[in-house]
Amino acid sequence: MRVIDLIKNSKQTAFSFEILPPLKGNSIQRVYNVIDKLREFDPKYINITSHHSEFIYKAQPDGTYKKVNLRKRPGSVAIASAIQNKYDITAVPHIICKGFTKEETEYALIDLNFLGVHDLLLLRGDVKSLEPGQDPALYHDYATELQKQVNDFNKGISLDGSTFEANETPFSYGMACYPEKHEEAPNLDSDIHFLKEKVKNGADYLVTQMFFDNEKYYSFVERCRAEGITVPIIPGIKPIVFRNQLTVLPRIFRSDIPEVLATELRACKTDEEAKAVGLEWCIAQCKELIAHGVPSIHFYTLMATDSVYKVAKEIY
Ligand code: FAD
Repeated sequence: MRVIDLIKNSKQTAFSFEILPPLKGNSIQRVYNVIDKLREFDPKYINITSHHSEFIYKAQPDGTYKKVNLRKRPGSVAIASAIQNKYDITAVPHIICKGFTKEETEYALIDLNFLGVHDLLLLRGDVKSLEPGQDPALYHDYATELQKQVNDFNKGISLDGSTFEANETPFSYGMACYPEKHEEAPNLDSDIHFLKEKVKNGADYLVTQMFFDNEKYYSFVERCRAEGITVPIIPGIKPIVFRNQLTVLPRIFRSDIPEVLATELRACKTDEEAKAVGLEWCIAQCKELIAHGVPSIHFYTLMATDSVYKVAKEIY
């Protein structure tokens, strides 16, 4: 069933979470461990993040360094299929623009179709620019361009313009949004302009970047509704588990930490104390979101599976 239908048919606020593929060479058991822990809360779907490749310098036996292209967390497509087969839970692999050529994306779509994985989250990806020597024509710049490729694929149009028999089950997908504005957007109006494009062109729902202040989410949703965006806007939530996340999360994800929470985190002497503070905040945040009537809550689990478990135990 499509994610949008799973959310709409859910009798209570739907529960979902995202997992990262294991570091290259590590066992998929790490993924299963997270799912086994969170399964009792009836996740409606599970997202699998995708990671671009990076150029790194590897030391050679002769003392020189060689530049190599390394994908640290490969396997999103295979993991999505493995999850669906093992757990019969809808898997949602993330498809990103940068680090993957348009052609590689087309092959990934073909594989996903064969594997019966038909729900996606379409994103630009963390990387904005290409490495020297990479041909910009091979890559999409924005998530909306990737969206067009997926829409064309759904209609049976391949990259080179040739046509094929369209899928019986077309891909459905969600896309990303930022209650506190995307870091590169000159202003929120501009961000919302492109968000409207995403929805007009077929995004079934939007998932937010993490936020810690519900008021920011409410006012963002209100603004989107005023602009005619009617699809579900699913809050993306992360419990804080380390003291240093007080500064790391605003720096990396541009999510503000409200001063009340910041003051409590600053007073923590250990990560254990920070984890307790983060847990309490997250439970209160989620309870309020549910009371507000959000259709679904999506959890970011990286390094936080134990806390997500405790939050889910409180709210479901
Ligand atoms: P876009 O929608 O392309 O937007 C990027 C910026 O460009 C915005 O400022 C937007 O306003 C602007 N813009 C959009 N379209 C245009 C246009 N046509 N012309 C000019 N400007 C435009 N990253 C990963 O690498 N892997 C993941 O698995 C991953 N998962 C994520 C999951 C969620 C729920 C979220 C919220 C983010 C995730 N990210 C992931 C991070 C994401 O890739 C980055 O935040 C990225 O910088 C932006 O992605 P986007 O899809 O929102 O980009």
